Amino acid sequence: MVGIGPGDYEEMTLRAVDALRSSDAIVGYHVYVDLVRDHFPEKEFFTTPMRREAERCRMALDLAREGREVAVVCSGDAGIYGMAGLICELRGEDASVEVEVVGGLTAAISGGCRLGAPLSHDFAVISLSDLLTPWERIADRLDCAARGDFCIALYNPGSARRSDYLQRACDIVLRHQSPQTICGIVRNIGREGEAAQLMTLSELRGYVPDMFTTVFIGNSTTKVIGGRMVTPRGYRDV
Ligand code: SAH
Repeated sequence: MVGIGPGDYEEMTLRAVDALRSSDAIVGYHVYVDLVRDHFPEKEFFTTPMRREAERCRMALDLAREGREVAVVCSGDAGIYGMAGLICELRGEDASVEVEVVGGLTAAISGGCRLGAPLSHDFAVISLSDLLTPWERIADRLDCAARGDFCIALYNPGSARRSDYLQRACDIVLRHQSPQTICGIVRNIGREGEAAQLMTLSELRGYVPDMFTTVFIGNSTTKVIGGRMVTPRGYRDV
């Protein structure tokens, strides 16, 4: 299970590169496979469409049982809204297949770098996708995180079907945080069309994200300093 980072080769770990080099087959959603294909042209590639995660994992397990060394690629980190857990569940107690999870730079980290230092203090990562989690639970987590004055990184902030989810999330955060709270969005991190933008929480409420966007909501101390989104760690106070 290989986390390939946000998209550009430079943000992949050396260990991930080694894992891909030493594999015979690379399996993944076609968008992620296309991100690494040019760097490993001699490999055999297997792709499946989006939302066929279990099928993809079963394919990888079958290939491994045939004796091949298989790399399943996920964007960012394979354990963060990725398939590392699913492959362990599907493998179960089958000792004939070894599983190794190779860490990758998750979007909260790579996106945070683009904005400045938004996550220098306690933060929560919340996905707005209700495909696998009921909205009520997502809403409760948002409420708790905002009440706890956590900075929040939002994954899966929206899609065509879920165009108002970010607005709903902002309304929950606004119960506890000021409309002037500093926020940022980063799109297509490490990929073509990368863009970052700072805004207030009230502006974020009107923003319509796509599925390649990661959203950052600051806490009550987050500021803009020299064009960067910064959540002070507090060093200057000690
Ligand atoms: N395993 C991935 C997350 C997969 S969930 C990771 O660790 O980063 C998919 C969500 O992740 C997207 O909707 C988006 O919010 C975020 N994301 C992943 N890659 C991104 C990228 N290159 N640019 C911006 N957001 C990204």
